[in-house]
Amino acid sequence: MIPVYRPLIGAAEKSNVADAVESTWISSKGSYLRRFEEGFSSFAGARHGIATCNGTVSIHLILAALGVGPGDEVIVPTFTYIASVNAITYTGATPVFVDSDPVHWNLDPSDAAAKITERTKAIMVVHLYGHPADMGPILAMGREHGIAVIEDAAEAHGAEYQGRRVGALGLAGSFSFFGNKIITTGEGGMVVCNDADFAERCSHLRGQGVSPTRTYWHDVVGFNYRMTNVAAALGVAQLERVDDVIAAKRRIAARYCDALADIEGLTLPPEMPWARSVYWMVSILVDPVLRDALMAHLKDRDIETRPFFYPAHTLPMYATSDRFPVAEHLGASGINLPSFPELTDAEIDQVVAGVREFMEQEARS
Ligand SMILES: *Cc1c(COP(=O)(O)O)cnc(C)c1O
Repeated sequence: MIPVYRPLIGAAEKSNVADAVESTWISSKGSYLRRFEEGFSSFAGARHGIATCNGTVSIHLILAALGVGPGDEVIVPTFTYIASVNAITYTGATPVFVDSDPVHWNLDPSDAAAKITERTKAIMVVHLYGHPADMGPILAMGREHGIAVIEDAAEAHGAEYQGRRVGALGLAGSFSFFGNKIITTGEGGMVVCNDADFAERCSHLRGQGVSPTRTYWHDVVGFNYRMTNVAAALGVAQLERVDDVIAAKRRIAARYCDALADIEGLTLPPEMPWARSVYWMVSILVDPVLRDALMAHLKDRDIETRPFFYPAHTLPMYATSDRFPVAEHLGASGINLPSFPELTDAEIDQVVAGVREFMEQEARS
């Protein structure tokens, strides 16, 4: 079976984890944590990094530090992984869905502009599948209306918008280090930002809102969203290979795109002139009536794939009669192909052959 994903774990990961365990600093104090926060935030072009136990709570932490709560609205693309939306719901605020851009698949800035109200507290962009959102118009909108722009960068470590890495282009951004993300700590996340006060608020809320100087004195309702030193030890080793992982992903995407280019009826993953994608997943679009059959055909050839996310507004807890035609079309058309860093050229060619065989068969019938 060629899997969709498999993390790249080597000797450095094993020895760092063993070292952290031997040190007995296995909870949320220890030298790897500081190294990982400093190393990753600087990789993301941000001054501050606050490591968390996953990428869902790191989004929640940003919203909580921003003071988002009941009565507030947060603009979010409906076409995203569910965590982006749930994190808004945790605060008691209302997620306000926007449609996606048909070319780059991320939040459509003009639809976001149309959804701004007096209650809008933040705009959350999501850099899906490794491709940055169109930040320019969104940041301008945020400045104009005095609304915070935050980034769910869980799938886009190292992706660039106009030559700048995503994460801290707005007020703050969230990364995930789940096992299938660009780099992993098993489970893990991080908030990055440039504002020292905001970083301090996130750090305070992450650690139960405890006073830095007075033991067991808590002045806000905080959370335990801390990362362990063992996870950070894994992260420090992963960070040393992040450039290699991104290079591998760009090589994989280039080979797929070259080989799939002449097949009728496929849309290949975008890379806008203002973007440098890290191709977390190499994704293609096909006619929705063929999508599941193509996935089944590949499965018969021992090739694992994933469908795109269901847009959030089509799921039971966020159901609405509002329509988001682009998001609905993407959700019904998209397939993630095997995209792990160690994927070989021969395996890519095998996937392409499977896609080609199916599409030619369909064209004949
Ligand atoms: C993975 C992911 C998350 C959540 O990260 P976890 O670490 O799994 O909690 C959030 N948003 C997006 C877009 C993701 O892909």
